[in-house]
Amino acid sequence: MKPAPFAYAKARSLEHAIELLGRHEGRARMLAGGQSLIATLNMRLDAPSLLVDINGIAGLDAIAQRNGQVEIGALTRHVAAERSDVIAAQVPLMAKAMPHIGHPAIRNRGTIGGSIAFADPAAELPACLVALDGEVDIVGPGGRRTVKAGEFFKDLFETALGPQDVLTTIRVPASAPSRRVGFAEFSRRHGDYAMIGLAASATAKGSELADVRLAFFGVGATPVRARRAEAALAAGGVDEAVAALGKDLTPSDDLQATGATKKHLAGVLLRRVAAELMERPT
Ligand code: FAD
Repeated sequence: MKPAPFAYAKARSLEHAIELLGRHEGRARMLAGGQSLIATLNMRLDAPSLLVDINGIAGLDAIAQRNGQVEIGALTRHVAAERSDVIAAQVPLMAKAMPHIGHPAIRNRGTIGGSIAFADPAAELPACLVALDGEVDIVGPGGRRTVKAGEFFKDLFETALGPQDVLTTIRVPASAPSRRVGFAEFSRRHGDYAMIGLAASATAKGSELADVRLAFFGVGATPVRARRAEAALAAGGVDEAVAALGKDLTPSDDLQATGATKKHLAGVLLRRVAAELMERPT
């Protein structure tokens, strides 16, 4: 199918993008890599009157380590993150997740900011952001603000972004010697959106784990923290953590699997990820 007709404008700067987005009273959409937006338009799930292309805005595609954190520009392509030495060394959770995102053609164009802003409930990066307790910078008509991952994902495809807001930067803590991360997902074929997945981080204290963060994806409208399982894992009980998922997660049936199947798979993923978190680094 072809999209409904729309006008196109290329933003020269953040200010220009915000101004263009304001002109069409909520009917303008931002175009980054286009890997989700164009499919949505082709299926006529959305019919904006204007696309504001942000690809020409300078300075939004850098990856840098600064003050114990890693900053990733929103326009960083998935492929650039996948090949980045900084991401490999300092954000190993993202490095583990990247190869699961679609296929190379999608990762060549898709952007990190687009994935976070689109907030697909089965996407890998929103869950990684929550597991790492990261944050995003947003620039809009009211100026700049920073929003923690826990407050950013509001509901199904709904985030803290307003219609004229541009997500500019994703920020996560840089790795530390005591930091442990784990990632696992089930998908029907490699590169498909996940049926269910888990991104996790923790701090190793001797043989124990503290500050455990388990962010499941594909089980709700947003990434879902499994807080009872986190506490059980910190107390050392993998079996108890798996049992706790019964109360933490209430996945619905969808086209991929029943809620009951997803609950079972959540336990399988948690056992795999728990083993990763407890592994001593080599
Ligand atoms: P776009 O498609 O350009 O935009 C998506 C939405 O985000 C739009 O509403 C746009 O306005 C908004 N947006 C984009 N950038 C910003 C910004 N900086 N500030 C504010 N709003 C912004 N993704 C996964 O996570 N896992 C998968 O397994 C996966 N599989 C895929 C398989 C296929 C066949 C396809 C086509 C896509 C798949 N994707 C998957 C989606 C892919 O990761 C997209 O790249 C990503 O979801 C959106 O990034 P984009 O840059 O293409 O954004």
